[in-house]
Parts: sequence; structure tokens; C-alpha cells
Amino acid sequence: MAEKIISKFFDIRDSHTIDVYMKHGGYKTIQKTLKKMKPAAVIDEVLKSNLRGLGGAGFPAGRKWSFIPKDSSKPKYLIVNADESEPGTFKDRYIIDHFTHGLFEGIMLAAYAIGAHQCFIYIRGEYVRQAERLVKEIEAARKRGFLGEGIFGSKYDLDIVVHRGAGAYICGEETALLESLEGKKGFPRMKPPFPAIEGVFGCPTIVNNVETIAYVPAIIERGAKWFADLGCERSGGLRLFGVSGHVNKPGVYELPVGTPLREIIYNHAGGVLNGKGLKAVIPGGSSSPILTPDEIDVNMDCDSLAEIDAMLGSAGVIVMDEDTDIVRALYVVTRFYRHESCGQCTPCREGTGWAERILKRMLDGHGRPEDIDNLFRIAGNIMGNTICPLGDAVALPLKSYITKFREDFEKRIPVDGAGASKQRDSLMLLN
Ligand code: SF4
Repeated sequence: MAEKIISKFFDIRDSHTIDVYMKHGGYKTIQKTLKKMKPAAVIDEVLKSNLRGLGGAGFPAGRKWSFIPKDSSKPKYLIVNADESEPGTFKDRYIIDHFTHGLFEGIMLAAYAIGAHQCFIYIRGEYVRQAERLVKEIEAARKRGFLGEGIFGSKYDLDIVVHRGAGAYICGEETALLESLEGKKGFPRMKPPFPAIEGVFGCPTIVNNVETIAYVPAIIERGAKWFADLGCERSGGLRLFGVSGHVNKPGVYELPVGTPLREIIYNHAGGVLNGKGLKAVIPGGSSSPILTPDEIDVNMDCDSLAEIDAMLGSAGVIVMDEDTDIVRALYVVTRFYRHESCGQCTPCREGTGWAERILKRMLDGHGRPEDIDNLFRIAGNIMGNTICPLGDAVALPLKSYITKFREDFEKRIPVDGAGASKQRDSLMLLN
């Protein structure tokens, strides 16, 4: 039975409360750290643990922390990204619901490491209950002296403020999040400067995903090597895989980084619903390229997926059975990103709309011979030509769905007028 770090709290009654967390050893690590470890040693430990950002980008967390300028006189900020908006991703919600104080202890360790005295948790607007829980538990921690001035009787001050978003997907992108936190429209910023140098309010800022921060207490308590050895070569530890779609047991599974995708679907999530065959799998949230059934022996780590031109992203696995209409699936993904485009970059603003309209036309039985090539051309014009990764988030699915399931798209293009009406009839049945 594989070790569990975070998910063991999912089944404990009232695990979100301070007392239950402390009954299971909570808050011991931060107290020891404040007494015995220098901030640089905490960064070094996280660096050696091979903990990578678990929100989607996969950037090594310790390296990110090390970019904070030591000699800056400006205040430093830690921001926890709880905007969790990528379709197919719901692991952070579980952490906030059940490992609330574990997240706070991770915040304390991370903030101490980078020299921050103020942390913001930026949470998506739809997570109403989770935001309320955070506020309530922060207050409980303040009352015990775990937050505020001189936490745990030390000389180190730290406070946490919960900031609710207003439902825009793009505010999960770290620079758009900073803009939103400053009270402006959630428009992604050009980089550089990177947030570690010039982040929120023009000050050095680290933005980390909820899950990334939640693993920090275990790393500091049990050591970098222990954590690194749980995962694979360049990606340490465990992570939470959220499995949804056509599976018998959808849910969140905490497994070693690098667990084969096949094992996740068939051993942990109970296989494809109703014993059907597998049509396709999205391995890491809706912005990742799609995989065919013969690609699911891939190990679920950033490097192994990159080798097959896919990505681990948020580790939100979406399973599609043999009856899935792949053209419709791509249409739904494209429509989502068109709706969420902030409109700053022409290729993203216009390209997502063009792609959505072409796909809709194909679904309605009016596909044209040039449509497939045009979708490819649109994706090529978006890729790498935008301020933030949302452009790529639509271009990558466009390219991979069409490349891997070209026949499904070709079937949507009537050969002549008679074909068009036949196609329309069959589409009505499919829809
Ligand atoms: Fe906005 Fe899209 Fe440009 Fe990102 S890529 S900044 S979402 S227009």
C-alpha cells in the first residue's frame, strides 16, 4: 500500500479543524523549524526534494523560492493560488476542505523561507464554502497565536488574508492573479519581470499552487531525500490525481509521481464505465493534448509526458469511452477557452472564436473541405504568439485531437450536397 501524505486526512472526521490536525501531529514541524532552521535551509530542503509546482507549470518549487532577492528592502509576499479553474481539476478543493491547517502549516514554512510576513490565498469565487472555511480556520489559528505577531511565541510575524476571485479562469494565471489582487482587471502581464522580482504591488512575490504548498510540511518533517525517493528522477514525491469522466470510481487519488496512466485508470479509478472500450484520455486538465488508448502506458510525470508531446498539467485525468464524440469534445474545450480569453492578444481573442465557429459548423453538418486545414492553421498562429499560456491551452488540444482522430473530423465534412443532408441526419441522432 503506497504511502499517503495529504489524502489520509480526507477520511478523518473534522480533519479541517485545528484540534484534529494537531492530534495527528500538525504544527510540530513549523515550531521546530522556527527554532532550529534558517530560511535558506528550508529553501535548500525543498530544492533537494524535487517538489515541482503542482498547479500546471511544473516548475521546481525550491528554485522558484530561491529567485526572491535577498537584498531587496521591499516587503515580500507569498500568494497561494487556489483559483483551480482548469476543467477536470478538483484536487485543491479537497485539500482546502480536509487539510486546511496542513495548508496553513505549509504557508508558514514557505513564507518563513522567503521572508514574507503576509500571505494571500486567492480562491476562485465559486468555492464559496471553501473560502468560508479558510476564513474561519484562519481566525481559529490567530486566536491560538499561530498567526499574527510572533507566531508560536517566536519573533516571526505572519498573517493570511483570503481574497475571492470573481469567476474568471484567466485569474489562475499567476500574473493575471496579481492584477486581480491589486483590484484591476485580470489581464496577464508580459514577463519579464517575473513575479519573484516584481510581483504584487511591485514587490517580490512567490505564487504557488495549493497542493505544492500542502506538501511542504511533510518535506521539512521527513526530509528531502525521503520525499524525492517517493517519486521519480526529476519529480519528487506524491501528487493528487483527479480522475473524472467515464470511469467507475471517479475521485482524487494520491499516488507517486510517475505512476503509469493505465494503472491510474484501471487499478485505482476502476476502469472504463460499463465495461466499454477506451476512446481517449486527457492526462492533465483540458488544456493538455489528448492521448489515444495505445499511449496510456506513459508514466505520469512531466518529463515522460513531454516525451510524447503531452503534458501533466494539473494532473486532472479525463477519461472518454468508445462512444465519445471527439469533435464535440474539442468543440466544448474550444468554446470554454474562447469564453475565458481576456482578449488582449489578437491570435487568442480571434483564433479561439474562429476555431469554435468552425467546429460548431462541423457539428451542425455543414463542415467544409478546408475546415481541418484551417483549424490547424489557426492553432499554429496562436501557438507561442500570445502573452499567456491560454493561447497554447486551446492550440495544443486543437492540434492533438485532429492529428490523432482525423477520421472523426473527416466524417463531419459532407462530400456533396446529398452527403451534407445525410450527415446532418446522422448528426441529429448523435447529438
Ligand atoms: Fe489574454 Fe488569451 Fe492573450 Fe492570455 S493569450 S493574455 S488570455 S488574449
